Amino acid sequence: GHSLAVFTSGGDAQGMNPAVRAIVRMGIYLGCKVYFIHEGYQGLVDGGNSIRQATWASVSGILDDGGTIIGSARCKEFRERPGRLRAAKNLIDHGINNIVCIGGDGSLTGANLFRKEWENLLAELVDTKQVTSENAEKYKNLNIVGLVGSIDNDFCGTDMTIGADSALHRVMEAIDCITTTASSHQRCFVLEVMGRHCGYLALVTALSADADWVFIPESPPEPGWEDQLCKKLKNTREMGQRLNIVVIAEGATDSEGRPIKCDDVRALIATRLKYDTRVTILGHVQRGGCPSAFDRVLGTRMGTEAVLALMEATPTSQPVVIALSGNQTVRVPLMHCVEKTTAVAQAMADKRFKEAQDLRGRS
Ligand code: ADP
Repeated sequence: GHSLAVFTSGGDAQGMNPAVRAIVRMGIYLGCKVYFIHEGYQGLVDGGNSIRQATWASVSGILDDGGTIIGSARCKEFRERPGRLRAAKNLIDHGINNIVCIGGDGSLTGANLFRKEWENLLAELVDTKQVTSENAEKYKNLNIVGLVGSIDNDFCGTDMTIGADSALHRVMEAIDCITTTASSHQRCFVLEVMGRHCGYLALVTALSADADWVFIPESPPEPGWEDQLCKKLKNTREMGQRLNIVVIAEGATDSEGRPIKCDDVRALIATRLKYDTRVTILGHVQRGGCPSAFDRVLGTRMGTEAVLALMEATPTSQPVVIALSGNQTVRVPLMHCVEKTTAVAQAMADKRFKEAQDLRGRS
């Protein structure tokens, strides 16, 4: 039978555990030996006790757990070839050449690189007598499937990443608590939510919380936004609204690329409008707690599909990411998605740079 391994890497997200559970159980159901690689790429580089066989029972009762029971980490060594060489040896020592990587675009980039280098790494391991040529032949193909775990929903190619829906639930719970106290006191709340390049959480939060204003990285506000913002807040107050909500994505900037931060917006409102204005930065609360029903099902569907994709891989097939498209789980080329995701972030940075230049040219 086949052997496959699963690891979680980069920032954790709710719904990683449901995916791990589905991978283990689908793998066992299809007659595979399934392994956990603990602590992401670090466990792959370290080998030994970091790579352990999973059983049906070892994923019992984790469907409703947030985070990841097999640990996640950032790993410097895997970025360098010697680290990846050790990782390759550890996989072969365990008889594994099928892996599922659950992580963000960084982790998936690493996975793609590893797969590209595989043949070359094997050759070096044979040359240095760390691996027999029989084993090198037996494991000459490395099959990789990626699942995107990210609360930011910041990956091109899938409608939703694992964890984004749960993060929205956390944000909503927090805002609902805030609004009751805010409206009792006629306050204004300025909230920062996560999202360095992607305003998804901020935008959906603003829509569902009936916010007055939202700042997202994709669409920096026009110069003069300070006046517009104050005018809008004042209007809604005058019409009888007892509280105001302003939502800021972590990576939001103005059109000159300067970060827009909660404290500055608070000071602006407090100075100009004299409103009692408070700041809440939600931070890691958004990663916390249990996965939503949507993420439990999403992780389960994606995990199941990942195992099927591995079992159907051929020597010529390219690594895929399991994505949600409409309401279907589909397989999309891993590298295409990673490249597009990086390109979008770069295009946004370029756009801000150009806008800043234009503005300076005008003044
Ligand atoms: P995320 O997967 O959430 O985007 P990171 O970008 O921090 O998080 O990546 C997680 C880990 O993936 C890194 O610590 C590193 O071990 C590995 N990784 C990321 N980018 C690369 C790369 N270009 N080459 C090799 N490994 C990488």
